Amino acid sequence: MFTIGCHLSASKGFKNMGETALSIGANTFAFFTRNPRGGAAKAVDEADISALIQLMEKNNFGKLVAHAPYTVNPCAENEKTREFARMVLSEDMKRMEYLPGNYYNLHPGSHVGQGAEKGIELISEMLNDIITPEQNTVVLLETMAGKGSEVGRSFEEIKAILDNMKHPQKVGVCMDSCHVSDGGYDIIHDLDGLLSEFDRVIGLDKLKAMHINDSMNPPGAHKDRHAKIGEGHLGFQTFVSIINHPALKNLPFILETPNELDGYAKEIAMLREAYHE
Ligand code: FE
Ligand code: FE
Ligand code: ZN
Repeated sequence: MFTIGCHLSASKGFKNMGETALSIGANTFAFFTRNPRGGAAKAVDEADISALIQLMEKNNFGKLVAHAPYTVNPCAENEKTREFARMVLSEDMKRMEYLPGNYYNLHPGSHVGQGAEKGIELISEMLNDIITPEQNTVVLLETMAGKGSEVGRSFEEIKAILDNMKHPQKVGVCMDSCHVSDGGYDIIHDLDGLLSEFDRVIGLDKLKAMHINDSMNPPGAHKDRHAKIGEGHLGFQTFVSIINHPALKNLPFILETPNELDGYAKEIAMLREAYHE
C-alpha cells in the first residue's frame, strides 16, 4: 500500500487532522505533539482521539509519524535543557499511548561542542530512561543534515545510539531525503548504494519511515533547507525512485516541504501518479 501524507497542524485536534489528510489525498500524516518551540501540551481529549482512530480504520490509514518539538535536545550541555527534554519526552511517550501503534520521530539532538561521542552517550541515556518495554510506540531517530553540531549526521552515529538501547525493538530510524543528501550521501544517483550502506551499518529492518523533501542545497551542504518536490537539487526522478524502491515502497512517506495544503495535495497527487503498486 502506498502510504503518504504531510505535516499537519494539530491546532484543531486529532479528528480534524484525519479529515484534513483525507481532503488532500493522504492516508497518513505527521504532527507536532505540542508547540514545536516547546511549551505545554494540550490536555488529552479522548473522544477526539477515538474519532481519529475510527476515521483511520475506516479509510485504511498507515502508521502516523508524530514529531517531537524542535526544542527537545537530549544531549544539550545545559542540564536544565536536558531536564526539559526528559520531561517532554516522557510525557509524550504517555500521550502517544492514546494512539497506540504509531511512530514518534525525534531529532537525536545537538551536542553543542561536547563532541558526538558525548552526545551519543547522553541521548542513549535519556532514551533508555524514557522508553518502556510495554509501550506501543516506536521512537524513530531521524537522520540529520549535519548542521551545526547535530548528532545523527551519519548512519554510524545513528547506529551507535541504537547499539546502546535497552529496548531496541522500540527504536527505529526515519530517513529524511533532504538530510541524507545534505549529509553527503548520494541519494540522487545511487539510491541502491545508499540503501546497501544503510543496511550494512544499521540494517534495513530498522528503517520505519521516510521524510521526503527536496533540498535547496547541493549534496554535502549540511544546510537543511527543504524544497518542494522536484524543485530542489534532488529532482522529481529521485522521488519516483524512492517511493518505488522495493526496500522503501511500503514505508510511510511524509512530506515536510514548504507548502500550504493545496501544495501538499498537488505533491501527493503527483507522487500517487508515479507510484507502482
Ligand atoms: Fe524532523
Ligand atoms: Fe525531517
Ligand atoms: Zn529538515
